[in-house]
Amino acid sequence: MIATAERTSVINAMSVDVEDWLQSTIDPKLPLTDRFHTNTRRVLEAFARRNVRGTFFVLGLAAEQAPEMVREIQAAGHEIQSHGYGHELVTTITPDHFRADVERSKKLLEDITGQEIYAYRAPAFSITRQTRWALDVLVELGFRYDSSVFPIPMKRYGIDGAPHFPHRLKTPGGHEIMEVPVASWKVAGRRLPTGGGGYFRLFPYTLLRRGVRQLNAEGHGATIYMHPYEFDPNELNEIDYPLTWKTRLHQGLGRAGFAGKVDRMLREFRFGTMQDIIDTRTDWPLHEHRFPDG
Ligand SMILES: [Zn+2]
Repeated sequence: MIATAERTSVINAMSVDVEDWLQSTIDPKLPLTDRFHTNTRRVLEAFARRNVRGTFFVLGLAAEQAPEMVREIQAAGHEIQSHGYGHELVTTITPDHFRADVERSKKLLEDITGQEIYAYRAPAFSITRQTRWALDVLVELGFRYDSSVFPIPMKRYGIDGAPHFPHRLKTPGGHEIMEVPVASWKVAGRRLPTGGGGYFRLFPYTLLRRGVRQLNAEGHGATIYMHPYEFDPNELNEIDYPLTWKTRLHQGLGRAGFAGKVDRMLREFRFGTMQDIIDTRTDWPLHEHRFPDG
């Protein structure tokens, strides 16, 4: 039996970074594959089955080549926001380049949807200690919430000490933006990134569930993140592109059980959009990143 009590209280969020794996991670010059459409529809069906609306951060590059898919997501009632245009890591580009990239994606998505785009998630959570200036650029472009600061120090991203729950974040330029980090689970004194990615694909469901329960017990909504291609177990074996065996193994691992875990989570917990989490209160705590050397 499923514990129905978990569906009663805290609202969690399902979020999707909408992109085609080959195009966004291997070569942006490649056209969208048919898999992009098939896989995005798999996400839509998974959410529709449980009557859940989620937040879809759409990559501009993909939206440009498949505007009808963006409208399909919108027609299903989901929140559409920006994943930037070209999937370039913020840590590898200049502030001017970043501004142009985000502005382009915002305008593109606003033209397609007829709605204001005001939230952003960076490729690979690349707003780090070194690229916090990006938060000011977002504010200047009219963005009101961000989901790019990973609250765990990882090899290439993450800010140590960043809150693991939604908060108002003071930017280096003195502005404020709402920051909604993805879910993590504190166990044995360490915080693990169980809200998506490799941990979500490889951990058994019961452990992922503990992570959500822990956040909910603290009164925080958990933000889960995923990509349409994670619903596609055969992609890495089937695509005709020269990939190393390491890439095939690492990127393909855990995809087979992915859809089942998402479905179970949708059944056992209460889910909505990220904006739904933000709307639950008006007095979000204010946080400022402080570093010893400024
Ligand atoms: Zn991405």
